[in-house]
Amino acid sequence: MQTLTQQFIDNRWVASRGERRLPVVNPTTEAVIAEVTAGHPEDVDAAVAAARRALPAWQALSGSERAVYLEGFAEALSRRREALMRLSSTNNGKVLAEAGIDLDDAIACYRYYAGEARRLDERQGQLVPLEMDGVEARCYQDPVGVVGLITPWNFPLVTSAWKLAPALAAGCTAVLKPSEVTPLPEQALAEIALEAKLPAGVLNLLHGDGEGIGAPLSCHPGVDKLSFTGSNRVGEAVMRAAAGGTKGVSLELGGKSPILVMADADPEQAADWVMAGIYFNAGQICSATSRLLVHQAIAEPLYAALAARIDALVLGDPLAEGSEMGPLTSARQRDAVLGYLAIADQEGLTAVRDGRRREVPSPGFFLAPSLYRDVPVESRLWREEIFGPVLCGRSVADEEEAITLANASDFGLAATVISRDKSRAAAIARRLHSGTTWINSEQLVLPQTSWGGFKRSGIGRELGPWGLAAYLEVKHCLMPA
Ligand code: NAD
Repeated sequence: MQTLTQQFIDNRWVASRGERRLPVVNPTTEAVIAEVTAGHPEDVDAAVAAARRALPAWQALSGSERAVYLEGFAEALSRRREALMRLSSTNNGKVLAEAGIDLDDAIACYRYYAGEARRLDERQGQLVPLEMDGVEARCYQDPVGVVGLITPWNFPLVTSAWKLAPALAAGCTAVLKPSEVTPLPEQALAEIALEAKLPAGVLNLLHGDGEGIGAPLSCHPGVDKLSFTGSNRVGEAVMRAAAGGTKGVSLELGGKSPILVMADADPEQAADWVMAGIYFNAGQICSATSRLLVHQAIAEPLYAALAARIDALVLGDPLAEGSEMGPLTSARQRDAVLGYLAIADQEGLTAVRDGRRREVPSPGFFLAPSLYRDVPVESRLWREEIFGPVLCGRSVADEEEAITLANASDFGLAATVISRDKSRAAAIARRLHSGTTWINSEQLVLPQTSWGGFKRSGIGRELGPWGLAAYLEVKHCLMPA
């Protein structure tokens, strides 16, 4: 059994000051596969001090020089791809094919930000167009400083790549705290930092939970900015903690994303995209399209196609060939989803498929997909993020009703529109309050595009040039021409 009681600070493994230990569980076997330290505020002090010491030299490098290290990360991840896929499947419960998609995403992200680091050099000192003679102004972008990066358990190596790659490209030094639920895949980043000869203190990796590491990191006076991905409850706590030092925050939080199926859609094709939007990663996706808005004209064939696909979905060991859905990542998450199914009972919702009725592998935190139809908009299942394999549907009479209902949510992370008429779908997409809208597609995410949400889904954007801007301060110098 692995013991993760050491923290990676200043390119050295040092014992955590924390006494508390947390079990790391394989969600398929329910076996404890590792023990991780809960961390200690003094670990945070040491890591932040190392990051501060490393900052001047790291930010003095050109973007092109930093790009070489980022390419080193991409190459090292590529070399470890198979092993990390298995580790991610084992620790998180996602099927191997999905773990492969994650690895490819992370690798592409480090490569993309190597390019962004080079492009940053080209932009430094750009003239600002002015409407006054006799003066000139030049614009520069400097790193924000030391950044605290806090990630959840649903996409190990991906959520950290989306933060770490742009932070390092910008010239920031980082203290990264992976989720205590899935600490094993991210452990590799420290090994990769050593292998890539990243200067000491540029990346510090602290294991622990919210109390041991997350909260002390969020209010640490030596941290200039926090980037957090996780729940709204904790995101708001991070924001409050950051207010103390007027630190910047980027927040990637929850969602309750809609999928709109128009009357002209092919129900069989639409069913494939609906399935991928909600049951990928056992529904534990922030962008899960968990609210189905289907035109009444095709509701019946669509529900029939979905029921057939749900029945055919193979639940099993994520490492086994043929498995299409693994267990949920933790007993806690499985129980939270079961809690919502109990609420559905109380609310008298109509189940097309009830995941509790299907026999699932045991042991393991497995839960089969559920599908409810004609769900009232007041239902808690319609309004709240469930973060599991539960889809709620409603029929709509027309496009206007679909758009109104799609936007009637506290969240605004993502959406999908399905229609044979591409230009009509694009026009609908323009009216949706969502950071990402897929049209006739599964949830393809590319590092060049943006990621983040409207409303309570968060603050700021990751990926693309916007993801880099989150780690940069803009300044200008004005002088006589
Ligand atoms: P969580 O909020 O419980 O934990 C996220 C991270 O915060 C973990 O590393 C945790 O240890 C840490 N943490 C806990 N308490 C803290 C505190 N007081 N201060 C600082 N850090 C603290 O979330 P989770 O259960 O790991 O992940 C699920 C949530 O993440 C869902 O709500 C999901 O929608 C969201 N999510 C969003 C995105 C996105 O891009 N918008 C992506 C993935 C997940």
